[in-house]
Amino acid sequence: MTRRWLFADQLGPHFLATPDQPVLLVESTGVLARRRYHRQKAHYVLAGLRSRARELGEQAVYRIAPTYGEMVRERGEELEVPTPTSRAAEALVARLPGVTVVPSPYTATSREDFLRWTAGRKRLLLEDFYRWQRVRHEILVEGSEPVGGTWNLDHDNREPPPRTGRLDVVEPWWPVETDVDAEVREHLDRLERDGLAEFRGVDGPRRFAVTREEALAALGWFIRHRLAAFGPHEDAMLKEDWAMAHSTLSPALNLGLLQPIEVVTAAEAAYRRGDAPLNSVEGFVRQVLGWREYVWGVYWWAGESYRERNALAARTPLPQWFWDLDAEHVEAACLSDVLAGVRDRGWVHHIPRLMVLGNWALQRGYDPAELADWFHWSFLDGYGWVMAANVIGMSQHADGGLMATKPYASGGAYINRMSDYCAGCAYDPAVRVGDDACPFTAGYWWFLDRNAARLAGNHRMARALAGRHRLRDLPQLLEQETHRGDAPP
Ligand code: SF4
Repeated sequence: MTRRWLFADQLGPHFLATPDQPVLLVESTGVLARRRYHRQKAHYVLAGLRSRARELGEQAVYRIAPTYGEMVRERGEELEVPTPTSRAAEALVARLPGVTVVPSPYTATSREDFLRWTAGRKRLLLEDFYRWQRVRHEILVEGSEPVGGTWNLDHDNREPPPRTGRLDVVEPWWPVETDVDAEVREHLDRLERDGLAEFRGVDGPRRFAVTREEALAALGWFIRHRLAAFGPHEDAMLKEDWAMAHSTLSPALNLGLLQPIEVVTAAEAAYRRGDAPLNSVEGFVRQVLGWREYVWGVYWWAGESYRERNALAARTPLPQWFWDLDAEHVEAACLSDVLAGVRDRGWVHHIPRLMVLGNWALQRGYDPAELADWFHWSFLDGYGWVMAANVIGMSQHADGGLMATKPYASGGAYINRMSDYCAGCAYDPAVRVGDDACPFTAGYWWFLDRNAARLAGNHRMARALAGRHRLRDLPQLLEQETHRGDAPP
């Protein structure tokens, strides 16, 4: 039987043709040397790869090599590999002799499926894609109609956070570290000591599943204890409760330990048993079968040049404090806490990513491609395919409106409504100019003014753009924000 070469994001048993197929796993030291990854991201991926090797025992050959190509050439055997998840890896396997690419179960939507869906469409609306997915995968539908009579329960899922400071929900599932974690930790320490790799963020306990067994335990725990509470506050943020009722399954999904269909099927079953309300289940299915698959499809559909798009001409390099996740020097309570979350665990949920980190970068005009790298290398679930549409499209509006009809820019009022950050902040979300001016509120108007000509044709921005002319202190605000430079707020 042909040996199957698996990348580090192809670790579930479903990536093998048969349970006893011989396997090649390669750990590339070159990947860690080239990029300044988050320490916990390097740990997470290596722990996944090495745990899989341990599970497979003699069935797997495990090699550490400077590059994948060197190792594959050196072995000189026939190999098959499930379709890789990046263009770079795809080009690499195409260049290597003796390697055959086979279909991958990584997502529920193949590239061909997505292309079929895009055919003849003027706009790639998420809502249309999501409904198509629900029907063809028979998730939360009766025939071609949605269960409960409506496709979208977003209006039930936009509650501000509870005043109690924590969500009343059982904690997420936590893994118990194994000796593989200890071994990986030692290995990464050595690489750093020898100057072979440099990491960002801090080391810390592993918080996410790295084996199939752990991933199934995490999925079961979420479905049983947390899914019911997921929906209403999914867009809210609490400084003392970073996970709230989020599934925290994205790292395991992106490592290939879980299949999207089994995840949404488990959620649907909870609804049908009466264990979780429809708004929570629909909101979760929308994230996994809708948004995640849509982002995957757009990565392949939009092509290589998508990453370089920069419709708002945002060219500010990311400041060093942002690269270094230096939360200590940030006074803005929301940004400081979210940056500390990235530093301490390489994961925050989707709203801090979009409405704090992304919003900040958009307002400040950070270079979108550099920001996509920052997310990719800082987050445990970050990959090139994830960040293209999420960062270039959705969060930075660099694709000129392909993904989102208007930029996701907002002032401090939004953060104040959807979090408990502002009460403990040195700034005031209602103030635009002066020592206590909220940098997000001021930054919002500064962003609009800078981009007024570029956004003039967007009718959804017309009111906001016109609104800035009513601000009597606009000249002072623009001067204040221009002089802020790249200092932490
Ligand atoms: Fe963030 Fe502004 Fe609120 Fe401070 S006042 S927490 S900077 S939104």
